[in-house]
Amino acid sequence: MTDDFRLEVSVSNYAVFGNPIRHSKSPLIHSFFAKQTNIALRYESIEVPTDKFRDYVSIFASQGGLGLNVTVPFKEEAYSFCGVLTERAQLCGSVNTIHFDKELNSFGDTTDGQGFINDLKINHQIDIKDKTILILGAGGSVKSILEPICNELPCKIVIANRTVSRAEELAEKFSKLCNITACAYSDLATEPFELVVNGTSLSLIGELPAISKSVVNKRTCCYDLMYSDTDTVFLRWASELGAAKVMDGLGMLVEQAAESFLIWHGVKPDTATTIDALRKINFN
Ligand code: NDP
Repeated sequence: MTDDFRLEVSVSNYAVFGNPIRHSKSPLIHSFFAKQTNIALRYESIEVPTDKFRDYVSIFASQGGLGLNVTVPFKEEAYSFCGVLTERAQLCGSVNTIHFDKELNSFGDTTDGQGFINDLKINHQIDIKDKTILILGAGGSVKSILEPICNELPCKIVIANRTVSRAEELAEKFSKLCNITACAYSDLATEPFELVVNGTSLSLIGELPAISKSVVNKRTCCYDLMYSDTDTVFLRWASELGAAKVMDGLGMLVEQAAESFLIWHGVKPDTATTIDALRKINFN
C-alpha cells in the first residue's frame, strides 16, 4: 500500500479497479450520469497491482469509499471478496459492482449481463424469444450474459469456443435454463443463426474466430462485445456477408454502468444520451 493510493481514494467515493485501467470509460460515463441526475460524486479509475486487490478494496472502503466497479483481471477475485452476493453474481461466479454499508460490509453484484440484454432489447429493439443464437467464446463476459439471454427464452443457444471444454462447462451449467449446446468452431453446422454474438477477445487483436461464413445470412444480427470507434473486424466481416444488423459493445458498457449507478444511487440514468455523447469521442 502506498501513500499515493491513500490520497487518491480519500477524495473519491466511487471508483473502478482494474489493471490496466488507463483506457477505462467508466469515470466519464459516471460523470455524465452524475450531471444528468444532479448527484454529487467523485468516480476515479485506479490501477491496482495484480496481487493487491483485497488490500486496495479494504482501504478504499475504510476511507469512505461507497461503491466500486471491478474490471479485468479482478472480477473473480471480487466475487470471492464480497460477503454478500446477488443470485446472478453467484450464477456467473463474477462481480463487477460492489457497494459498502456503514459497517464496511461488501455486497457484490454483476451488471454486465443485464447491460448486454438492455442494449440488445431497448437500444437495438431486438427480441430473441424463439430465436437461434450462436455465441463465440466462453470467457468471463460470455459467462455473464448467458443467464439474461436464457431468460428471454430463445429457441436454442450454441456456444463455440477454441477451448471446447470451457464451452461445454458453460452449456452444462446453464442447461437447466435453456436448450444450450457446445462445440468447436470447426464443428458448427452450416446453418445460419438469427443472432451471432462475438464474446471472444479476438477483435482486440483484429482477428476473427475461425468460423464458417454460413452462420450469417441476411436475417442474422451480429453483436461484438468489444467496442471501438470504427467497426470491429468481426462486424466488418458480418456486414460483408449481408447481416441484417451489426452492433458493438458500447451500449452494453453504458447499460452495465447504468445498472451499477442504480444499485448505488437508487436512480436509473438515461443511457441513450450518454451513448450518443460517447460515440462522438474517439476511443483510441
Ligand atoms: P476472457 O479472457 O475471459 O475470454 C476470452 C475469450 O476469447 C475466450 O473464449 C478465449 O478462448 C477467446 N480467445 C482469446 N484468444 C483467442 C484466440 N487467439 N483464438 C481463439 N479464441 C481466443 O475475456 P472477456 O470475456 O472478459 O472479454 C471478451 C471480449 O468482451 C473482449 O473483447 C472485451 O473487450 C469484451 N467485453 C466487453 C464488455 C462491454 O461492456 N462491452 C464487458 C466485458 C468484456 P479460450 O477459452 O480458448 O481461451
